[in-house]
Amino acid sequence: MTTDLDLGCTCGRVRGIARGVSPRTVNHCACYCLDCQSFARFLGRADDVLDEHGGTDLFQMSPAGLEFTAGLEAIACMRLTPKGLLRWYAGCCRTPIANTLASSGMPFVGMIRTFARGPADTADAALGPVRGYGYPKSASGDRSTLPEGGLPTALLLARLMTLVLRWRLRGDHRRSSFFHADTGRPIVEPQVLRTEEWEELRRRSR
Ligand SMILES: [Zn+2]
Ligand SMILES: [Zn+2]
Repeated sequence: MTTDLDLGCTCGRVRGIARGVSPRTVNHCACYCLDCQSFARFLGRADDVLDEHGGTDLFQMSPAGLEFTAGLEAIACMRLTPKGLLRWYAGCCRTPIANTLASSGMPFVGMIRTFARGPADTADAALGPVRGYGYPKSASGDRSTLPEGGLPTALLLARLMTLVLRWRLRGDHRRSSFFHADTGRPIVEPQVLRTEEWEELRRRSR
């Protein structure tokens, strides 16, 4: 069984649907890396995006399952560094949306749970338990209370690659809301942070 999850930014302008979500079709994980923490700080949303250890709750899914139903024109994109991930957010209220690679060729979107709307227990059931925690060495706060178990970062990435290969073979790389189907270019030109801005965000994430 799969679920269609309602998505939306805090102010309600950007809305969408994540179709066909189930524990088998997505990679539900949490990421403690400094870049994910820096993104939440860039948005001014660290308090409601990050958990007590600086973790971001996210689920990686096929871009073909993501559809925007309103507010596409408000979607903004940034990169922490010139070669960093594309980090998508709602420019209206600075709600994080997703991370992607810089081109559409490796088709996945790392949806940030903050962008999910609707009852939390519906999303909990659709996503299943967190499969693993990425980059726990970058976690903040009291390490002794970090969640235990789950796949290590390398196996999380391996599971993602298996899913991505399947999605690529299915042609999902041509069905992403974030990239033009004909050119593979992002729909919005990403803003790249200046080195000083990025260093300042990282400093605050330690
Ligand atoms: Zn908004
Ligand atoms: Zn991360």
